[in-house]
Amino acid sequence: MPSARRFVLPAMFVAALFVVVFLRQPDRSEGRHEYLVTGPTMGTTFTVKVVARGGDDTLKERLAGILRDVLEGVDGAMSTYRTDSEIAAFNRHGTENFDASPELMEVMKEAQRVARLSGGAFDITVGPLVDAWGFGPVGAAEPPSEEALQRLLAVTGFEQIEVDSNLGVLRKARTDCRADLSAIAKGFAVDRVAAAFDEEGFQNYMVEIGGEVRTRGRNGAGKPWRIGIERPDFDTRAVYVTIPLSDLALATSGDYRNYVERNGVRISHTIDPRTGRPIAHGLASVSVIHSSCTTADALATALEVLGPVDGLAMAEQYDIPAFFLVRLDDDRFKEMHTDVWTALTENTSASEPVE
Ligand code: FAD
Repeated sequence: MPSARRFVLPAMFVAALFVVVFLRQPDRSEGRHEYLVTGPTMGTTFTVKVVARGGDDTLKERLAGILRDVLEGVDGAMSTYRTDSEIAAFNRHGTENFDASPELMEVMKEAQRVARLSGGAFDITVGPLVDAWGFGPVGAAEPPSEEALQRLLAVTGFEQIEVDSNLGVLRKARTDCRADLSAIAKGFAVDRVAAAFDEEGFQNYMVEIGGEVRTRGRNGAGKPWRIGIERPDFDTRAVYVTIPLSDLALATSGDYRNYVERNGVRISHTIDPRTGRPIAHGLASVSVIHSSCTTADALATALEVLGPVDGLAMAEQYDIPAFFLVRLDDDRFKEMHTDVWTALTENTSASEPVE
């Protein structure tokens, strides 16, 4: 019997969606405080830092309120891990028009744009394949048979979902087509938190959800934010490099956190929709910088699917600031990046502490 072990971040997200930890850092400059808020969400964790003047004790309640509203809103609309979410209702829906919320429409529209841009490498209709390979909310003990794979490929294809912005509706070509927004909705949640902070007048903050990050302004020491890109190790957590990130978003997709091990072989959670199989080309991680975290999140997955050669070619073609780490063996990686990545991250350092 093949042995299967699943490796993911601890699933802290159960009934208590929102247990946050607050810390207020000591004053760093001119009476500014750096508030740190962390907690579980979407099967992973979030970390938020907000730098604000004064020691306003009500600020942490305000931050908690904003985070709760935004994260619960995105989870309620886009989680395939809940039966009561909007996307779960869409997945159960037939081929007739589905009235979608403006938020779901926005994410669907961007998902389809990145799908077209990447020639279908990014494809939210991989939901059934994700489940079949043992990822997603439904576990699977065995990999799908060739016959099952062909059946699942028949329901896969981003063209099966139509986003009608004029009517504000979604349409599927087939009833059994299912969408999985796991590769884009965390980035969207980061953007929504940032937008809410902007509305509240915060000018200096860092928002991170499950590795997708967005910053604005400066950190508590009055310096530009520096963000760490993780070393794509399977067993340990370490920073590979830190980069300056001001008023931009950074998202990373990789093969090292969420995988299944079968008979000693690691199987990635990133599925190539063209073959229906998990990727196996040795690209350990791809990081993308963009003004939108939603877009960065989706592009990082698209490039991860395409791999070191086609992914780099696509990133060069569309001037995407992208950084690739190709696994040579368990300890060594080959770095590749686009020219625009270099231009944006000139002060990159492997040794500076991560913010
Ligand atoms: P990314 O590269 O950003 O995304 C990879 C994921 O996208 C895969 O796991 C798969 O689901 C999908 N995917 C695979 N191939 C493709 C492709 N070619 N194109 C498009 N998508 C693809 N996890 C839990 O365990 N419990 C939860 O309660 C839970 N709730 C969630 C709620 C929401 C709203 C979201 C967005 C995710 C939730 N997750 C949950 C999922 C968990 O956080 C995922 O592991 C995570 O979203 C995957 O992100 P990543 O950054 O690791 O990888």
